[in-house]
Amino acid sequence: MNLVVVGMQWGDEGKGKVVDFLSETADVIIRYQGGHNAGHTVVIEGQTIILHLIPTGLLHAGKIGVIGHGVVVDPKALLDEIEMLASKGISVTGRLFLSDAAHLVMPYHRTMDHESEQRRGASKIGTTGRGIGPAYADKMARVGIRVADLLDPQHFREKLSANLTETGRLLPTTAGEHTVDLQKIYDEYLALGERIKPYIAGTARILRQAIGRKQHLLFEGAQGTQLDVDMGAYPYVTSSNATAGGACTGTGVGPTQIDKVIGVAKAYATRVGSGPFPSETDNDIGERLRTQGQEFGATTGRSRRCGWFDVMAARYAVDVNGLTAMVVTKLDILDGFSEIPLCTGYQYKGQLLTEMPTSANVLQHCTPVYQVFDGWRGQTTAGATSYGKLPDNARRYLEAIETRVGCPVDLISTGSDRGGMIIRRAPFVS
Ligand code: GDP
Repeated sequence: MNLVVVGMQWGDEGKGKVVDFLSETADVIIRYQGGHNAGHTVVIEGQTIILHLIPTGLLHAGKIGVIGHGVVVDPKALLDEIEMLASKGISVTGRLFLSDAAHLVMPYHRTMDHESEQRRGASKIGTTGRGIGPAYADKMARVGIRVADLLDPQHFREKLSANLTETGRLLPTTAGEHTVDLQKIYDEYLALGERIKPYIAGTARILRQAIGRKQHLLFEGAQGTQLDVDMGAYPYVTSSNATAGGACTGTGVGPTQIDKVIGVAKAYATRVGSGPFPSETDNDIGERLRTQGQEFGATTGRSRRCGWFDVMAARYAVDVNGLTAMVVTKLDILDGFSEIPLCTGYQYKGQLLTEMPTSANVLQHCTPVYQVFDGWRGQTTAGATSYGKLPDNARRYLEAIETRVGCPVDLISTGSDRGGMIIRRAPFVS
């Protein structure tokens, strides 16, 4: 049984916790896109661990983790994370494999990221500034450097030099400055290459062998459907395919090998960075969601924009990922709200839309249509593990989501710790 977990909203849906939960019954956990701009937070016995590149499943002893070729890797960030885990007594040696075909995030990518955001001014995308977008741009322009290139010093030097020459990055600026120091980058990355060498492998083959042994594969999506470079509100998106298709192109596993795709959505909605967000509540209610939900970025610490659950966006996620089930997280954050609006549609120029618009410009001008549910004041869902024991109004709300989105809610998360999970149907059982 091979399963993909994707975010149904704008990222930060709590995929880290869901993947951690599902990892118990998986053998190999795989990251397939994004870079260290993503951040998964897992809380284990009160201890918070934030991972950016390493698959969350490696927090379980004995599991294998793979970073597929669809991920762009900053080797320094990867080594920092390996060391952070080692300091907590978690060793990934011998069980973490990094694709030799993954592209590298280079120092000049970070510079380009910052410069590009500065140039955009008010229309900036709100990237994390870690060079992820420019690394993907170089990959597609065929001037990227891959992990395997670091293993051959002569070849690495030639490639680095040729790529920097072709992209004009070795030329002096109009002020006569050289901003890229080839020798410095060469020395730094060659040394980093030596250190990541023990993890480098042909990961597509490793996954093929695991499938041959009938092991359970768990593909861990980063970001979310609405941030996918093709499916999201372009250009307010990330630079990779966060949707389920990315699990195949980013790892070398064919689509016929995927058995289930599980979508993760918060019981409300958040987004970081710029771009349209129709159900945003930019007022004291939004502030309350932010405070109760601790909606601050795992990677940047930025405040997340908060709003209500958006059925239009969720239904779109079901369609473009081919979801077989969904997980609703952070239900407990809605404890204490007297009213819980559910965004069931958009009004655009006096018309009710029934499909998610493609254009960010159209989406920007959509106003939400709400169905308002009564909260479960006085009652709590925090830490609940039984669906039957949830307050009636909480079940009513979840069932409305299930019906309107058109996808079964198999799991409900009710707390940040591993314990707070309601299992209606166990995902790894076919
Ligand atoms: P990801 O990128 O999708 O993994 O999202 P984050 O790492 O930003 O996770 C969201 C945050 O919510 C993390 O701090 C989690 O520990 C926390 N979290 C996940 N599920 C729940 C839940 O059901 N209730 C509460 N209160 N917190 C949760």
